[in-house]
Amino acid sequence: DTWREEHAITIHGPTSDYICPDPILSFKDTPFSTDIQTSLTKAGYTAPTPTQAQSWPIALTKQDMISVAKTGSGKTVGFLLPSFHHISKGKAGHHPRILVLAPTRELATQIEAEAKKFSRAKPYVRTTCVFGGAPKYNQIRQIEQGIDCLVACPGRLSDLITMKKVSLEAIEILVLDEADRMLDMGFEPQIRAIVENIPDQRQTLLFSATWPKAIQKLARAFLKNPVQVNMGNID
Ligand code: ADP
Ligand code: MG
Repeated sequence: DTWREEHAITIHGPTSDYICPDPILSFKDTPFSTDIQTSLTKAGYTAPTPTQAQSWPIALTKQDMISVAKTGSGKTVGFLLPSFHHISKGKAGHHPRILVLAPTRELATQIEAEAKKFSRAKPYVRTTCVFGGAPKYNQIRQIEQGIDCLVACPGRLSDLITMKKVSLEAIEILVLDEADRMLDMGFEPQIRAIVENIPDQRQTLLFSATWPKAIQKLARAFLKNPVQVNMGNID
């Protein structure tokens, strides 16, 4: 609790008797594979950021989670590594098992790049990225080759669903990154249509820099009994 106070982290559990797992303060205390740990060191990271320290142990329990934190706190690796850890336990398939929705091409590309820092490590995770303003052909070809993790902007992904070029039936983990920006950009109808194609039995992780009413409503619609982790002052 002192650690949480020092980092201005507050936890809201789904029930009043919720006990939050302790933060993971060092890479060697994670359950991640040795390969992943080596990749973290190779990326130049020496320790988990406070967001990662607190979100990893929660996400690893497969619970739904809301994280409200400012940008630059290392949220990407915060959601990618627990997700990679989970799918490493199942059988590799053809359809994606992780879906990350992000508002812009720039952000989606950054998430893909962060994922690729770990793509040579076991578990081997095939990641690709789809966004508007670029030809669909190459994106469809990547998907058809078989992928594990799909990073997508909502507009392009709903087009590909309508064209029946992607199946979300195997999704086990849904990540809504920068959810507040996606709503500001008017993507709510596309997000709702996309989520209708994802099994109810899944883990959902929602990230946002702010916590306005519209995001709270979205979280209520898509997350089940979430744990909420707030970092710093919430608007
Ligand atoms: P956010 O999504 O919270 O804005 P990012 O995931 O984009 O933050 O991370 C911000 C920067 O911090 C990126 O350049 C990323 O590579 C770097 N980063 C992530 N985790 C760590 C870490 N544990 N140690 C050092 N740098 C990190
Ligand atoms: Mg981010």
